[in-house]
Amino acid sequence: MILSERMKNLKPYVPGEQPQDRKYLKLNTNENPYPPSPRVKTSMENLDIERLRLYPDPSAIKLREKIGERYGLKKDQVFVSNGSDEALSFCFYAFFDSLYGKLLFPEVTYSFYPVYCDYYGIEYERIPVNGELAIHVEEFVKRKGSCGVVFANPNAPTGTYLTLRDILYLLDHYPSEKPVLVDEAYIDFGGESAVPLLRDYKNLLIVRTFSKSMSLAGLRLGFVMAGKELIDALSTVKDSFNSYPVSTLTQRIGEIALSDEPYYQSINDKIIATRESFSTDLGKLGWIVLPSKANFVFARKEGVPGKEIYMKLKERGILVRHFDAEKVRDYVRITIGTQEDMQRLLGQMKSLF
Ligand code: PMP
Repeated sequence: MILSERMKNLKPYVPGEQPQDRKYLKLNTNENPYPPSPRVKTSMENLDIERLRLYPDPSAIKLREKIGERYGLKKDQVFVSNGSDEALSFCFYAFFDSLYGKLLFPEVTYSFYPVYCDYYGIEYERIPVNGELAIHVEEFVKRKGSCGVVFANPNAPTGTYLTLRDILYLLDHYPSEKPVLVDEAYIDFGGESAVPLLRDYKNLLIVRTFSKSMSLAGLRLGFVMAGKELIDALSTVKDSFNSYPVSTLTQRIGEIALSDEPYYQSINDKIIATRESFSTDLGKLGWIVLPSKANFVFARKEGVPGKEIYMKLKERGILVRHFDAEKVRDYVRITIGTQEDMQRLLGQMKSLF
């Protein structure tokens, strides 16, 4: 069969397992252990099915207004997408072009970034992280001949975090006409968002998701916040690809979820408290746990390969994530579940390693 030349070079991203064969304790894909807001259920029960006969609002005006209200922005500073992976993909297409230099991202970060680069033919440079796998913004600033910067904050899969001061330093010293994309998928677990900087930095883009702190990974809803000019560019990309990426149901559920901030605050506070107590307990068992501001921790135990940790836990019905890549293969990434989930994991870790 003839395939396109483009196709032959694709190296797809490999997501964490979603096994259907047996019931695992899933601590491998950073899903929220608590259910979505109860208001989501009520709204689904009252759904006007007739509405599904029609196409969705292609520009998702109501949802963008609601997101704007939450973050003090206008709707024309908000773009919505089918999960934040799609938002990232559109951003890479719209803003990064090796004609103006390579794209910069940390050598340890979300492994979809190099996949998008290959997909769109964007050259990139991985910026070294330190021994604790932390990002140093000075390293980005040194490379002014690049075409832009992207990083996750908190970073994935490490959980390490850049303060607003670090991000300000980057924005103040990096060329102001080149886009800086901050992927805030995990910012609601104790980090400080860069949203207030959008007012002063027209090259800043912030990507968010409903998958983690809003407990709606199955919904597939993400968004971008940035100045109008950048948001308009994203709409152009979207309309050149699929006018209706965000379904009617997704838009509606997104609006409802946004209306229940106290609920989400309470479940995410629980996750933060669990993360802190779990990290302490794991440390007491002799594990090295990187400080995390996300809903997961990155941990290793001297003398035990990460792959072995992953496999032994899987045999016991617990899934964590292992990355077979340089600098991280000794680690496993553990999603924070409920207190009970983490107690069960700790029990297994005590007996196995
Ligand atoms: N950014 C980061 C850093 C992530 O870890 C993930 C989850 N894999 C995403 C974006 C994408 O999340 P989603 O497409 O579910 O919004």
